[in-house]
Amino acid sequence: MTELDTDLVVVGGGLGGVAAALAALRAGQRVILTEEYDWLGGQLTSQAVPPDEHSWVEQFGVTASYRQLRDGIRAYYRRNYPLTPRARARRDLNPGAGHVSRLCHEPRVAVAVIEEMLAPHRGSGRLRVLQPYRPVGAETEGDRVSAVRLAHRDSGEEITVTGRYVIDATESGELLPLTGTEYVTGFESREVTGEPSAPAEAQPMNMQAVSVCFAVDHVDGDHTIDRPADYGFWREFRTDFWGGNLLGWNTPNPRTLETGTRSFTPNPDDDPDAVVADQRLSGGDANLWTFRRIAARRNFTPGAYESDICLVNWPMIDYFLAPVIDVPDAAARLAAARQLSYSVLYWLQTEAPRPDGGTGFPGLRLRGDITGSADGLAQAPYYRESRRIAAEYTVVEQDLSVALRGDKGAVPYHDTVGVGMYRIDLHPSTGGDNYIDVAASPFRIPLGALIPVRMENLLPAGKNIGTTHITNGCYRLHPVEWNIGEAAGTLAAHCLQQSTTPRAVRNDPEQLASFQDRLTAQGVELSWPDIAGY
Ligand SMILES: Cc1cc2nc3c(=O)[nH]c(=O)nc-3n(C[C@H](O)[C@H](O)[C@H](O)COP(=O)(O)OP(=O)(O)OC[C@H]3O[C@@H](n4cnc5c(N)ncnc54)[C@H](O)[C@@H]3O)c2cc1C
Repeated sequence: MTELDTDLVVVGGGLGGVAAALAALRAGQRVILTEEYDWLGGQLTSQAVPPDEHSWVEQFGVTASYRQLRDGIRAYYRRNYPLTPRARARRDLNPGAGHVSRLCHEPRVAVAVIEEMLAPHRGSGRLRVLQPYRPVGAETEGDRVSAVRLAHRDSGEEITVTGRYVIDATESGELLPLTGTEYVTGFESREVTGEPSAPAEAQPMNMQAVSVCFAVDHVDGDHTIDRPADYGFWREFRTDFWGGNLLGWNTPNPRTLETGTRSFTPNPDDDPDAVVADQRLSGGDANLWTFRRIAARRNFTPGAYESDICLVNWPMIDYFLAPVIDVPDAAARLAAARQLSYSVLYWLQTEAPRPDGGTGFPGLRLRGDITGSADGLAQAPYYRESRRIAAEYTVVEQDLSVALRGDKGAVPYHDTVGVGMYRIDLHPSTGGDNYIDVAASPFRIPLGALIPVRMENLLPAGKNIGTTHITNGCYRLHPVEWNIGEAAGTLAAHCLQQSTTPRAVRNDPEQLASFQDRLTAQGVELSWPDIAGY
């Protein structure tokens, strides 16, 4: 079996993993980064979720390297795409003019920019990317991970990697069970967390839905897919809180829970310049076509794009029938989630009511070329909720809820390693819960949430940090994952260079101050200006 050794092993090449690797590489460390799918970038690319960001993202509240990623995406469009002069001139170019984000773009562009950011480190020989590999085993010695075993996704060939530090940046916390690291899943109990929105009893198998996203455009002709095997089931599927069939235009409003009707207008006559993507005003999801539109044809020279392109991460594709983590039939559950996504598409193409009284939009065309997959759907499922480490500090609802903190804002953690902001936006869950949506204050990310209670050289870098089921709802966003990853990668490098440990950095005030200075110097914002949540 091949054996490799490095300073830092980063398992999982999503946004947290890439940010962790980049931070350690910039600090001069050697890194092995592993990724299971064909693209680095996780939720931004292989999972096909356009960025979910807070309202101040163009000005502040993200790390300098995350801004470099965003700026790189815009620069890539300006260099390579046939933008209209007006679109090209916009400093805040939003290629898709989607309502969810100020930077809705094709996943492939993010892949290119991530590869561009990593390229000099690959060239130097200090970065090795193992792709497509997934973790299948680990060795531990006491409270340390000594090796991680990876298997090639297709051939099954195995590689063992050793490193001084190991970062779990997988979407589902895969290294936690493999290394015996203490962790939780699902809904914690109110008794344990004190959270007003938590249930009396813990519900470890109650996790938010996963979604298998896909891209569509709308062109002449009939592009209807074969009837999915499970279509009959999903066509009839209803659940109490939905307000109608899951496959329908009536869905709950995540914020009010009132059932409302979503509109859907392929290729509307809207002006991309007039789109204001501001989550303070609304979630942007009233019209599903423009919600997560990643290419607005009117941003490009006439004829360049036949149609807008949208990423479908819409309410109907949330698979909440069963969890896909820590269950024996995870593969079958993920296959069922894919069937739901195909069924939503087939329903849209054949039976969805149209405003003119007819049914179906056969012109909707599945764009697997946009998501880089042979089967038409995103390469990877979008996991909203991961296994989470039992951490030195766990972020709870009462630390950041607007209702509970009022004008005081979120708890100003002394051990801050970054910032984030999103409403607590929990999707329907496998325990039968509807959306749980709570206004949040702009928050700091506490270092304590990155330190496992026992393990000494394993760090989390994504949705697997010390949050709860509830606070995961505002920590699972792209820039927050990136900031967490950047903090974890910097921490590993810092500990190697200073011959210290993550726990000591957190618990020794002098060491903490020195680490925070280092983060500040590399462009990580540790606190917010005086702003209010939403
Ligand atoms: C334009 C277009 C239209 C399509 N329309 C349809 C359609 O209407 N209906 C439809 O079903 N497909 C449709 N497909 C998908 C196509 O048929 C896929 O190739 C196929 O469904 C996926 O099979 P796979 O095993 O290759 O995929 P994989 O990606 O390998 O597997 C899909 C899922 O099944 C799981 N899985 C794989 N093998 C097993 C196993 N042995 N046991 C348990 N779980 C397993 C995987 O973990 C994964 O989650 C369409 C594709 C395109 C491009």
